[in-house]
Amino acid sequence: MTTTRWPILLLALLLLGGCSDPRVQRRQFLQFGTLIDISLSGVDAQRAEAAFDAIEDLLEERNRQWHGWQEGVLKRFNDDLAQQPADGVPVPPSLKRLIDDSKRYYRLSDGLFNPALGKLIAAWGFQGRPQPDRQKIERLRGALPDMDDLRIEEGRAWSDHPDLQLDFGAIAKGLAIAQAAELLRSRGIDNFIVNAGGDLLVRGRKADGSPWVVGIEDPFQGGALATLAMDASGAVFTSGSYRRFYIDENGQRRQHIIDPRSGEPALGLRAVTVLHEDPVVADVAATTLMLTAQNHLPEMVERFGLQEVLVIAEDREAWATPGWLKRLQWRSGADIHPQPLPKQLQDQDSGK
Ligand code: AMP
Ligand code: MG
Repeated sequence: MTTTRWPILLLALLLLGGCSDPRVQRRQFLQFGTLIDISLSGVDAQRAEAAFDAIEDLLEERNRQWHGWQEGVLKRFNDDLAQQPADGVPVPPSLKRLIDDSKRYYRLSDGLFNPALGKLIAAWGFQGRPQPDRQKIERLRGALPDMDDLRIEEGRAWSDHPDLQLDFGAIAKGLAIAQAAELLRSRGIDNFIVNAGGDLLVRGRKADGSPWVVGIEDPFQGGALATLAMDASGAVFTSGSYRRFYIDENGQRRQHIIDPRSGEPALGLRAVTVLHEDPVVADVAATTLMLTAQNHLPEMVERFGLQEVLVIAEDREAWATPGWLKRLQWRSGADIHPQPLPKQLQDQDSGK
């Protein structure tokens, strides 16, 4: 198993402001390989229970459809594409939005966000047994597939690369949370948090009018690094080298975010947390920023239209947008001291 951090995530989740409020209805369950924690405000217990049941069903179905390597819609689609049939493969309706968005964000990120790299991600040991397959990695690295190798015409898909395999691990949770939120709003529920293992969407406020409070996890020692009162709706997503990793046979720490330029696990950054109103954008952007060179961070933040960002490097150097520099409430004794982003990074850039 790759390392995951259950107890710490649980701790971070307990920080949610609503948990001691009797007017908050709450349910937790496991899905998408993580703990889903939903809090609703201003809803009676009966309506809340019905909504929770519907979200559990929805997320179970999405997990089955979107899972990268267990039997399901995506795995079948990948297997069919790999045959490269001349008349293409029908695009399953449940994958259409993920494919369209992935193509768009592949370009927006200059190719850093590349869900076509599923085979390479698997070869690094992040789809099952955590062990690199060196021979396979070397072979794949020679010519990596990308989202432009997937051609879509009139509901059918063609793969122009024999190694193209889709892995939506960096975007699926964002879309799942967006769909869960849509479900709640269609039932007239407008004040809630949908939290999937620390990646979350907040809407509205608690029943007493006070803001929801969310925690940002300490990527070095677990627990809460800072808390944030959410005075507007938005999605807070974190990507990090500490979230899934293993130590390889040479004692090297290998993380799950793969750099398409080198074909190797990304290096340099420990964690990136972002705020954007759309959870899909937040999910994709957090992963992309983990792969972005420091001097390009401000530009990428702007391209994705991110409202706020916190970036923490492996050496503990850190940067945050001015809004979060002011508003994050740091745990006492927190050993992270962010500098302003983007100014500091632009200065560094121009100094080179
Ligand atoms: P996240 O936790 O949202 O940052 O997503 C990380 C997951 O996305 C990994 O576990 C892989 O499944 C997948 N992934 C790894 N590298 C990339 C990449 N360069 N582009 C898109 N997805 C990736
Ligand atoms: Mg992501």
